[in-house]
Amino acid sequence: MTERAEAIAVRDLHKRFGPLEVLKGVSLTAQEGDVIAIIGGSGSGKSTFLRCINMLELPSAGSVTIHGETIAMKADGHGGQVPADRRQVQRLRSRLGMVFQSFNLWQHMTILENVIEAPVHVLGVRKDEAVERAETLLRRVGLYEKRDAYPAFLSGGQQQRAAIARALAIQPHVMLFDEPTSALDPELVGEVLTVIGDLARERRTMILVTHEMKFARNVASHVVFLAGGVIEEQGPPEDIFERPKSERLRKFISSIH
Ligand code: ADP
Ligand code: MG
Repeated sequence: MTERAEAIAVRDLHKRFGPLEVLKGVSLTAQEGDVIAIIGGSGSGKSTFLRCINMLELPSAGSVTIHGETIAMKADGHGGQVPADRRQVQRLRSRLGMVFQSFNLWQHMTILENVIEAPVHVLGVRKDEAVERAETLLRRVGLYEKRDAYPAFLSGGQQQRAAIARALAIQPHVMLFDEPTSALDPELVGEVLTVIGDLARERRTMILVTHEMKFARNVASHVVFLAGGVIEEQGPPEDIFERPKSERLRKFISSIH
């Protein structure tokens, strides 16, 4: 068996919002090539967990390691912690591609401009090179013809595919997806899942929060069930969906079907 490198390691992550402790010690490791699906009820902390990985939310305690480099934290003087070095956070964040539920494309930029923005302005890629790469990515997600359109003129499914191309444009080590299809009309879900499924089949490392259980069953290498602020159960998809052990997971799965 060949050793795979560790892509992300989250250790004993806690997150409090005032008196509410949403995450109560969550640890998770993604090896390169892993496709990890995170499932759980609404409000169980799935988005918060993903946002803590790239420090869009600051973990109250615990550590995040990206490609072997742990994000340095220091005490904030109020019992929490903040990153010790903002530049380190920016650098490590640029190794992560994030796709949100609500697309979050820049509305005043064309699709092509959205995709080249971070490569040119954050990573310093030459514009002609960024455009060439962006066009390849847009072809991949079936949006080459829409490259000069503004987001508002695209369907939700097209916007989300553009958001995926934009996330891929920084050549991230890991892709993070937060319920990428839950804001879409049902008839547009499939085209977005097809793109994500292709990335999974290429063994691109990803952590995916999703309510699409059939999709998770088919593409995930590992499924994590969050409940009550902890990982209640985890394992290969066939165990999680066909042989759930905990009562909570059984209830959750039957509530979804
Ligand atoms: P999920 O994505 O699983 O639905 P979230 O991570 O969005 O859950 O939220 C988990 C809990 O944390 C919810 O109770 C939510 O109201 C709360 N929460 C999330 N973000 C904030 C915030 N910025 N301030 C206060 N509470 C928050
Ligand atoms: Mg969420």
